[in-house]
Amino acid sequence: MLAQMVASLAWTDRPDASLPVAIEVLRHGPISRADLARRMGMSAGSLSRLTAPLIDQGLLVDIGEHNDGRVGRPTRLLDVTPESRHFVGIKLRETEVVGALTDLRGGVLNQLTLPLSGRRPDDVVGTLVDLIDTVRDGITIAGVGIGLGGRVRKRTHVMSARFLGWTDVPLAALVAERTGFPTRVDNDVIAFTEYERWFGAGRDDDRFAVVTLGIGTGFGLVANGALIVDEDHGLGLVGHWPLDPSGPLCEEGHRGCAASLLNSDSIARRASIAIGEELTFDEVLDAAENGQRAAGQIVREAGRGLGVLIAAISNLTLPQRIIIGGEGVRLAVLAQSEMRRSLSDHRNPLAAILPVIFTDGDNAEWCRGAAALAIQSFVLGSADESKLSGRDRLRIA
Ligand SMILES: [Zn+2]
Repeated sequence: MLAQMVASLAWTDRPDASLPVAIEVLRHGPISRADLARRMGMSAGSLSRLTAPLIDQGLLVDIGEHNDGRVGRPTRLLDVTPESRHFVGIKLRETEVVGALTDLRGGVLNQLTLPLSGRRPDDVVGTLVDLIDTVRDGITIAGVGIGLGGRVRKRTHVMSARFLGWTDVPLAALVAERTGFPTRVDNDVIAFTEYERWFGAGRDDDRFAVVTLGIGTGFGLVANGALIVDEDHGLGLVGHWPLDPSGPLCEEGHRGCAASLLNSDSIARRASIAIGEELTFDEVLDAAENGQRAAGQIVREAGRGLGVLIAAISNLTLPQRIIIGGEGVRLAVLAQSEMRRSLSDHRNPLAAILPVIFTDGDNAEWCRGAAALAIQSFVLGSADESKLSGRDRLRIA
C-alpha cells in the first residue's frame, strides 16, 4: 500500500536523460530554452526532444513569451508548476518542533511550531505526526524532511543527537510508518546547505560555503556543485575552531573558540555579567545597536572572530560565495564591518573579495532546508544526482 502510494507520487516516469533537464528547470526556472540548452551543453534540437515529453506530461510548462529588453524575438520560457507538489520540512529543536508546508521549490506556504512533550523517540514522533497533520491542513504531500543537530546516516537513521539523548534512532522509518509519507532526515546544517545549493543563493555556484550562527556554529561546504558530506559532519567540528588566542573561555575550556565568541548562549552570558543584568541574546544585540558599550564590544569581538573563521574557510576551500544564516545571523549583520575588516586582514590582498550573503535568520530557513531533503528524494527517485549532473555526459543526448 505504502510502496504503491510512493510510486504513484513520483515526479516523472522518465528517469532517463530528460530528468536532468527537468531538475535544471526546477532549480533555475523560469528559464529560456536558449539558456537551458547552454546550461545543459546541448543543442536546441536535442533539448526539444527531451522537453517535449515533459511538457506533454505537464511536468514542465511553457509560460509564454518574454522579452528581456534586448532587440529581437521575445523568448518563450520553461518552468515547473511549484504548487503542483507539496512537502513538509521540519526543524527538530531541544524543546520544540518547527514545521513548514512548502511547494516544490521549498517556498514556505504555512508554518507552525509545537512544543515537545518529551524527548523519548516515541514522544518526539508523536509531536512530529501532529505537526505534519496540522501544518499540511488536508493538503496531500509528497514527502517529509527533518533536520536536527546530530549525526545522521543515509538520511534515515539518527546515529547520535546529544540534545535529545538519542543514539541510533531510525527516525525516518518511525515517522513514515505513522504518516504514510516518505520521510528523510539529515543534519540540520546539511539540510540548510542543500536548500541553498538547489534553490538558494548558491544555486549558480560550483563552490560555496555556509556558516550558520545560533546556539552553535555550523559549517557546510559545496564543491563541484556537490555537498561535501560525511557522517562526522554532525559532530559540529567547526563549533570549537580557535579564533582569538586572547578571547573568552568556552564551557569546554578553549580560549577564544567559535563557541566562546559566536554562540548565542555565550554572548548572552558574557554580556549579562558585563552589564550586571540578565539579558537574552537578542537583548544584547539591541543594547549594542543602542550604543551600550559592553554589548557593543562583545558584538565587535564576535565580528572579528567570525572574520577569522570566514578567512580560514576561504583560504582553505576557495569558495565563490559565503552564505551566513541561522537564527543568530543578526550578530553577523550587526558586526559586519569588523567581520569584513578581519576577513581582509587574514586574506592575501590579491585574493578575490568574496561575496558574503546574509539570510533572513527566520525559522523558516531551517524548515526550507529540511523540505529540500524531501524534495531531492522525491525528484531524484532512485537516480544518483552525482551521475545526472555531469554536463558532459548529457552531450550524448
Ligand atoms: Zn570551545
